[in-house]
Amino acid sequence: MKYQRTIKKRVSFKGIGLHTGRVSRVTLRPAPQDTGVVFLRTDRNAMIRASLSSVVDTAFATTLGCNGTRIKTVEHLLSALTGLGIDNLIIEVDGPEIPILDGSSIPLVDILLEAGIKSLKQRKDVIKITSPVCLQDGHINIVALPYDGLRITYTIHFKHPVFKNQTFSLDLAEERFVNDVAPARTFGFLKNVEMLRANGLALGGSLDNAVVIDEDGILNPEGLRFEDEFVRHKVLDLIGDLCLLGYPIEGHIIAERAGHSSHIKFLKTLINSPECWKVKTPEAVEVVSYAYA
Ligand SMILES: [Zn+2]
Repeated sequence: MKYQRTIKKRVSFKGIGLHTGRVSRVTLRPAPQDTGVVFLRTDRNAMIRASLSSVVDTAFATTLGCNGTRIKTVEHLLSALTGLGIDNLIIEVDGPEIPILDGSSIPLVDILLEAGIKSLKQRKDVIKITSPVCLQDGHINIVALPYDGLRITYTIHFKHPVFKNQTFSLDLAEERFVNDVAPARTFGFLKNVEMLRANGLALGGSLDNAVVIDEDGILNPEGLRFEDEFVRHKVLDLIGDLCLLGYPIEGHIIAERAGHSSHIKFLKTLINSPECWKVKTPEAVEVVSYAYA
């Protein structure tokens, strides 16, 4: 992934939002190099950049906003972009939330692959971790260590009679993302659904777009896609939040008991610790030799 990427052609989809319950239509459009990922709320004529400074809420989803206009639940789409190495994209959406589809990133991966991936001429700068960066917040720990490439290790702890602690670790490469992370669905506990709905959340949630857990197990008749689907989904969410850095990251990120709120806190800690990372521009040996040929 040496060069920046976008998609080859415009592609659209629509669906219900997990939290708002509202149907939105999304159009993904190719964007030139160095554009980054930009959301356009077409019903409000408002632009919101996918960056840490745009994060306005992290309760049960990552919400971006600018001047009072918001877009909720961006993380599964951003995860698909990071997983496929797409750096530049215009995301038009005519409502307040990105559709949840099946609760995972795999339909979004399929849509992006249908549009096709295009390599651009500008090289891709990378944030390379050079010294450890840590966030400790109560029981939550997130650490980034120097590493060649991007490795993610995630642990969750369940207080549940059937589901116990889960850990998942992988070196992020496109194929591994598509096969082992993107299909993992979002999940929630039945006992929390009423509380969420009373707070205007999970209004579009159903067994078609989330794994729902009660005290005996899961309610979804089709079962789980992976035995450890829950922790894989946490990895998916973290990969989505990493997109908000604006650069791919090289390091080993180890997260325990984390969630969107701590992911964002950690990424802000990282950005505010410039002594722990450097921006690396990939070598372009061929380009230099051609330039002097
Ligand atoms: Zn999620």
